[in-house]
Amino acid sequence: TLGHAIGDRLLRNSAERIRTAVRETDTVARIGSDQFAVLLENLADIEAAELVLDKISDAFTSEYDLLGQEVHCTASIGFSDFPRDAHDAETLVRYADIALQSTKQSGGDASRAFSVDLHAKAASRPHLEQALAGAIAHDELSMHYQPRIDLRSGRVIGMEALLRWNHPELGLVSPAEFIPIAEESGLIISIGEWVLQTACTQTQAWQRAGLPKVTVSVNLSALQLAQYDIGDHIAQVLDDTELPHNYLELEITESAIIHNAESAADKLNRLRDLGVRCSIDDFGTGYSSLSYLRQLPIHALKVDRSFIHKVSQDPGNAAITTAVISMARDLGLRVVAEGVETEEDAAYLKQRGCDEVQGYFFSRPLPADDFAAYLAQPHNTPGLGEIDGDQAHRTLLILDDDNNVLRSLVRLLRNEGYNILTATEPEQAFKLLARHRTGLIISDLRMPRMSGVEFLKRCRQLHPQAARMILSGADDREAVMTSINEVGIEKYLTKPWDDEKLRDAIRETLKEPLAPQFGAA
Ligand code: C2E
Ligand code: MG
Ligand code: MG
Repeated sequence: TLGHAIGDRLLRNSAERIRTAVRETDTVARIGSDQFAVLLENLADIEAAELVLDKISDAFTSEYDLLGQEVHCTASIGFSDFPRDAHDAETLVRYADIALQSTKQSGGDASRAFSVDLHAKAASRPHLEQALAGAIAHDELSMHYQPRIDLRSGRVIGMEALLRWNHPELGLVSPAEFIPIAEESGLIISIGEWVLQTACTQTQAWQRAGLPKVTVSVNLSALQLAQYDIGDHIAQVLDDTELPHNYLELEITESAIIHNAESAADKLNRLRDLGVRCSIDDFGTGYSSLSYLRQLPIHALKVDRSFIHKVSQDPGNAAITTAVISMARDLGLRVVAEGVETEEDAAYLKQRGCDEVQGYFFSRPLPADDFAAYLAQPHNTPGLGEIDGDQAHRTLLILDDDNNVLRSLVRLLRNEGYNILTATEPEQAFKLLARHRTGLIISDLRMPRMSGVEFLKRCRQLHPQAARMILSGADDREAVMTSINEVGIEKYLTKPWDDEKLRDAIRETLKEPLAPQFGAA
């Protein structure tokens, strides 16, 4: 009310007052419009901290003289303690903020320590539910967007709209925490409407601004699907926002469909008639009834991220994911892998014929402005283009912890025209195998990290197209014999090897081109 010049002086003067109340070695920073953070290091105990906070409070008692204006100010303080309250900076700041809000609520001009009670109160069900009821009106909700990438072209073809709630005291609350509350309290209906409206408006605005046109996926909860007029509502939102219908996709969980068993078909058919796509979210974690997949108009399956985690190394996850991919292929559905965190998992999924990926490896969910900037750059996913299915019958991988062995094998096979991959550790081998479709895997038996038997066993499940060969020390004969059945190896040879025999054995194994891979275009 007194103008910017006086406001600036007030802030500088306040900063100075705080600085004189603390030691040289402490840190004072301004972190928001009228918020300061103070870091007090190496204090003896909590009492010592309270003394300093009293000094800071006292520093504000005298009047400010600002360009002739007399102003009175008070400080409201909240604090948290390391290591008592938390161990990381982010949580400590958040907790101090919770304590600060509590100070303000009780009139301000005081200081208060964070306590578990304060947090528990703010985070308790009734409080959360009450706060959530006002979240839209208080402008606390926002959408983040995470890209969906087509594995064949390497291009961004869609985005998932993910809801974020910025709670005044608790900071960002995870949707995993508040969506269930929204569902149980019925608030999800109004929140869901807000989400649809916001996501469609945003998508249309980006398209009008000339950004690449991508589909937006919006998560629909079971309760929303249960609304009798959900189809009308979505048609209305599409009309209002003028978003072309084929750019909206809805993500529904299996359990939402089961909960709406009688009406789900009608509703999804209505959406299909509108030109809106539906995909099944978190596929594999819900009910195991699969008959609905044949009966309902479903566009894609999103394989739950628990199955995607380390899929290029974990035979169990690979088996489930591969089975879903092949089932989806036969049913004419697309497969989206969510939660892809590493390049080798993405490459492996591409090799297995997965259509689309989404995950931290490509991008975290981003606030709208950041996502627009992301969309504006041309995207080609680095590295993933390298997988070359046609070369598989010319590609072999050799795993041996002895570099000399690797070197002499490469020398021996140099003129054979193979694409030779070498690794000294299983982990490295799995990464290479994820990126290069391979016809033959040759492994040593005795290695420090993982035995050759275990390694080949996993290869058999992860890369069933590849033949397996053991190249072991002569004294491992017995281990070889017992492992032949377990691993299903093609051949075994002993070290030191006979050059001629080894060359022939490899030629023999790699003579035929492999059957086409799932994903081969
Ligand atoms: P979801 O629909 O399965 O969304 C994917 C979740 O995985 C998101 O969590 C996303 O941030 C996270 N994620 C993406 N990539 C990775 C990754 O590489 N690694 C890991 N560990 N996580 C990844 P988020 O945003 O916390 O959302 C959680 C869930 O909350 C969503 O799961 C969805 O079921 C629900 N949700 C979010 N927004 C809405 C909404 O607007 N409406 C409804 N009804 N539910 C929503
Ligand atoms: Mg989803
Ligand atoms: Mg999901």
